[in-house]
Amino acid sequence: MTRRDLFKVAGVTAASAVVTGCTASTGVSTPNTQGATNTLMPKSNGKRVVIIGGGYGGLTAAKYIRKGDKTTEVVVLEKKDIFMSCPFSNALLGGMEDVSLDTLTHDLYSGAQAHGYHMIQTEVTAINRGSKVVTTSKGTIDYDILVMSPGIAYNYEDQFKGWDANKIADIQQNAPAALMPGSEHLALKRQLENMDDGDVIITKPAGKYRCPPAPFERACMIASYMEKEGIKGKVIILNENKSVAKGKAFKEAWKELYGKRIIHMTNCNIDDVDMDKKEVHFTQKDSLGDTKKRSHKFQVLNLIPHNKANPVVEMSGVETTTSFGKVVMNGCSFQTKSDKNVYAIGDVVGHAIPPSGQTANWAAKEAASEIVAQLNGKAHTLGVKAKTVNAGNVCYSMVGDKPESAIMVTHDFSWTGKVIKGKGNVPKPKDGKGKFRSKNVAKATREWYRGIVSDLFA
Ligand SMILES: Cc1cc2nc3c(=O)[nH]c(=O)nc-3n(C[C@H](O)[C@H](O)[C@H](O)COP(=O)(O)OP(=O)(O)OC[C@H]3O[C@@H](n4cnc5c(N)ncnc54)[C@H](O)[C@@H]3O)c2cc1C
Repeated sequence: MTRRDLFKVAGVTAASAVVTGCTASTGVSTPNTQGATNTLMPKSNGKRVVIIGGGYGGLTAAKYIRKGDKTTEVVVLEKKDIFMSCPFSNALLGGMEDVSLDTLTHDLYSGAQAHGYHMIQTEVTAINRGSKVVTTSKGTIDYDILVMSPGIAYNYEDQFKGWDANKIADIQQNAPAALMPGSEHLALKRQLENMDDGDVIITKPAGKYRCPPAPFERACMIASYMEKEGIKGKVIILNENKSVAKGKAFKEAWKELYGKRIIHMTNCNIDDVDMDKKEVHFTQKDSLGDTKKRSHKFQVLNLIPHNKANPVVEMSGVETTTSFGKVVMNGCSFQTKSDKNVYAIGDVVGHAIPPSGQTANWAAKEAASEIVAQLNGKAHTLGVKAKTVNAGNVCYSMVGDKPESAIMVTHDFSWTGKVIKGKGNVPKPKDGKGKFRSKNVAKATREWYRGIVSDLFA
């Protein structure tokens, strides 16, 4: 009997208790488009920064604004009541040693207690920049400076024009994207634990989406899980275009660690999904531009749809880019171009830098310095003075288990005067013996995760 069989028999109840607990706290809440009209917190007498989103960007900003100026009141508005990390979540799917739900979750109040900011569990429903008031499901709150770090939203409607709301809800539940923290990751894990022999399909969207390496790291972790559990089947990546973040490094790992278990198919446009028959229908384009209709059966489907900026950005009415709805920034600053009292960080930032937890953490610190300077009437040069930052982004991906191995990419950031640009490099580590992956990079992956989570909360 494998660990998976054991789980099927004995663990389902325990797991569902965990999932239920988490659903209550982290699940998708019903948007309250009206919002409450009572006051969430009394009007501020001094300086108040309101931050929307208690994720990677928002929590870092809250901490570092308070570190920079103890006289500023900082209030974080977060719709979930528990923090769960997307970074390192693929290691949970891979069943890696010492990785559990505990590794990924955190109570949101610990950072607030340690650094003296307020954490309010509520969903933002409207923003009035004229009166500098945010409306939430529990009441309204005024601000001097507003910081938006709300992350992404899925854009099924754009990608699947023929799907109605019921179909989208069905797909979200049964073929979870797991790019947003919470029940989706746990649902995907449960499906892997309950699967029979057969294939896992991961769809990779074209265009900008959260954490470009994530679907490819996930393929490695799921393949590794299937190997460990003796599940016969393949992991098939249906890539809407050809691009693969950290491409050479992933392809090397797929081939050398998993042989034919991981299949990467390019230029595959998803046409439809039949959840009853467990079948994906797609159209694949070949190099001559000819198309072929195809279908493939799955045991588990991780359908990652097109992404867009979280609707909070639209609520603010600041200028955005047309393709994703990212915030147009004020030069190389983290202030928005439209409003000097509104800042943006994290995945919604319009700079040409990769969307990652590391970047969100870095950008939040930059933004915090700008905000502290602004609130204290000091000129800040951060957004305008030309500079370069080496390895502003470092992003690791686990590719192998037993023995653990990982790959990495670094991005150097440079100020062009108009926008911050990132230039990526995928290095071969010294201990990699000529390969992109190594044991030390896997060790660094775990250390990076411990370090960044500690920076968010301690
Ligand atoms: C599988 C996976 C693996 C990843 N691995 C890595 C990695 O190894 N390294 C790395 O650097 N990055 C990684 N990332 C990317 C990283 O998770 C994101 O880039 C990062 O979380 C972005 O930070 P953020 O603050 O913009 O958004 P988030 O961290 O998602 O925070 C946004 C918060 O806003 C809240 N919110 C949204 N709307 C509202 C509202 N209306 N009212 C109140 N609150 C709201 C959300 O609930 C959420 O908590 C990974 C992502 C995925 C999906």
